[in-house]
Amino acid sequence: MSKYDLAIIGGGILGTTISYWISALYDLKICVIEKESDVAMHASSRNTAVVHSPFYLDPKTKKVLAKSSIISYSMWEKLAKERHIPWLKTGVFELGFNDDHYKTLKEFMRWGKINGIPDSDLELLDGEEVSKREPNVKCHSAIFCKREVSSDFGAFTREIKKESEKNGTQFLLNKNVKSIEKNNDDTIISFQDNSDISSSFIINCAGGNSLAIAHKMELAKEYSDLHFRGEYWIASPPHNDLAKSTIYTVAEFKGYPFLDPHWIKKADGKTEVGPNAVPVPSPEIYSGYLGDVNTALSKLKEIITGNALKLFSNTEFLSMISKEWLSSISKTAMIKRVQKFIPKVKPEYFTERGTAGIRSTVITPQGKFVADVMELGNDNSFHIINYNSPGATGAPAYSAFVVKKLQDKGFLNYTLKKKETMWNFDDVINQA
Ligand SMILES: Cc1cc2nc3c(=O)[nH]c(=O)nc-3n(C[C@H](O)[C@H](O)[C@H](O)COP(=O)(O)OP(=O)(O)OC[C@H]3O[C@@H](n4cnc5c(N)ncnc54)[C@H](O)[C@@H]3O)c2cc1C
Repeated sequence: MSKYDLAIIGGGILGTTISYWISALYDLKICVIEKESDVAMHASSRNTAVVHSPFYLDPKTKKVLAKSSIISYSMWEKLAKERHIPWLKTGVFELGFNDDHYKTLKEFMRWGKINGIPDSDLELLDGEEVSKREPNVKCHSAIFCKREVSSDFGAFTREIKKESEKNGTQFLLNKNVKSIEKNNDDTIISFQDNSDISSSFIINCAGGNSLAIAHKMELAKEYSDLHFRGEYWIASPPHNDLAKSTIYTVAEFKGYPFLDPHWIKKADGKTEVGPNAVPVPSPEIYSGYLGDVNTALSKLKEIITGNALKLFSNTEFLSMISKEWLSSISKTAMIKRVQKFIPKVKPEYFTERGTAGIRSTVITPQGKFVADVMELGNDNSFHIINYNSPGATGAPAYSAFVVKKLQDKGFLNYTLKKKETMWNFDDVINQA
């Protein structure tokens, strides 16, 4: 059985970036365990691909995501330039439709400042000014953030994998974790193909499965999760140019971690609308609604007997969910949500679906969505759960924070290498 100092479960953008930092800083035997044939096959490629500027994130409740996004921006920009990864500065309008939304936008301006966005990058505009800049867009007021970028997080992850491999990390692909058991000083990880490895320490970055992996290690048993599929439609030319910038709107249901469908200018030149947020029973159901019967039944049982039941008896949540369902079943319903701000848009302009992705959100025992990233651990493992948007944006800085935390807890008591790294670790930590 192969033995490792560190096993990272999950080869998404998070696990891959953590493997890069640790392999760049230390001489350890590290593996990244990934059940697919390559890294970034799930949320890390199936997303809106916007490198977000965190003006819309509450610096109190979303502190970790806000901090890591602002620091990561220039790290991604550097890597994109060096590796010829698309970096398209589209700018973003965040639209409001009434006086209440205007108040929210004013609050966003304040948050943007606290979160470190330069004043020169954020403008608060009235609807008339927005229509001058984007003649097909209608709104009451808006924020324009000029530094918003469209890029490709899958391409970033694959580049970081190459760097991590150069440092000696082994990527164990097509290895689906079945069970995890403590054995004296080590932990044995067994896979679906009946092979196994042992490791002194485990970092769980399994995305939509991270809570299930924590449960396997008897952690966070009081929490449950729900999975929401975000679907997109691609605009066909010439209608893809109805607006030049990416457009988001102030969310109708503020208490929930979803935004209404946006108008997205992609780095590959396409324009998409989406995502909605349709509940599905497990984190990888990209078409259909139920997946396999056993998974669907077990999720249903978990909902009826667990934390999420409180949510499903909340009328506001049910009203939001029914709207999301409708815009999954009916393209017209989805496009109607976009007509609210681009009235000229018509369902027939969208003939092809974009790539759907799934957000997995953790529910507290009180039946509430967890707002920020959840971190937990014990003496042989560290778990990152609820790592949602703008998680891809924040990955390089957030991963450095995780490494610093592990250093401070004494889990990385090894000699540091004196080697040039792709990004400067101390610079990232000093900005935190
Ligand atoms: C629809 C949507 C839109 C989004 N838009 C944006 C955006 O515009 N900007 C932004 O910054 N963020 C966005 N995000 C969020 C961002 O994509 C995620 O926060 C980020 O990709 C999470 O990365 P991850 O590595 O934690 O998860 P993942 O990419 O899901 O990686 C987890 C990996 O673990 C593997 N795994 C799981 N279970 C096992 C197992 N048992 N054995 C072995 N391997 C396993 C999976 O195969 C997967 O590769 C969006 C997300 C979605 C879903």
